[in-house]
Amino acid sequence: MVRPKKHLGQHFLKDANIARKITACLDTKHTTVCEIGPGTGILTQSLLERENISELTLIEIDTESVEYLNSHFSDDRMKILEADFLKTNLEELFPSDVVLIGNFPYNISSQIFFKVLENRNHIPEVVGMIQKEVAERIASPPGNKTYGILSVLLQSWYDIEYCFTVNETVFYPPPKVKSAVIRLRRNKTTALDCDENLFFKVVKTAFGQRRKTLRNALKVLFGHFEFDHPLLSQRAEQLSVSEFVNLTKLFE
Ligand code: SAH
Repeated sequence: MVRPKKHLGQHFLKDANIARKITACLDTKHTTVCEIGPGTGILTQSLLERENISELTLIEIDTESVEYLNSHFSDDRMKILEADFLKTNLEELFPSDVVLIGNFPYNISSQIFFKVLENRNHIPEVVGMIQKEVAERIASPPGNKTYGILSVLLQSWYDIEYCFTVNETVFYPPPKVKSAVIRLRRNKTTALDCDENLFFKVVKTAFGQRRKTLRNALKVLFGHFEFDHPLLSQRAEQLSVSEFVNLTKLFE
């Protein structure tokens, strides 16, 4: 047994059927897999049952969990790293592509997705269990209050699917929130049709003051500007990915 530690977001999944349902979301053509936060290994077990996986790297920050995993699992395809996922160098660890899976520590799920974005050309797929509200936000279309920075940025490079909702009762200890499994698959976009660094800044600034029109919200970034464009009288949450690209082009 590993004593659950709140500050590490440890909520261990109890239900092996749900673990299988989660790992089944991962496309079988991927052979190099990284699991974030394996804990006591309920997803790990289910991943190891899949013969197509030739390399499974577990990244776990908790020493006690790592000891537990080392004493309960042994498989030539598997490697356990005791590390903070947010601080790992993915390019070094995985010279070619890697897919990510995990019942994520909810307190750092947004940071995990920002790291995915940084490494988007080496991560073709992500299957993650996260807080239900965050899953809904990421999958949300424009024109919706839940649509935000991560929705736009992730949808720029990934096709997002909300797979299923998971009840708090299948965890020990049960979290205060509902959970959901979400799948991200890299889309065909290699490069956006605009300056990508500026695009990130525009999206972040636009949602920083989401109730203002873009003309006013973007003053923080560009100061006062004279020219006009129909997009500038809209608000951040109304714009699709391609409209954000067009908006960025106005300022290049
Ligand atoms: N996959 C397990 C545990 C999920 S709880 C299960 O489904 O039962 C989240 C796990 O992430 C915990 O084991 C926690 O120790 C680990 N964790 C938390 N922060 C982490 C970080 N920064 N890097 C790697 N693992 C982390």
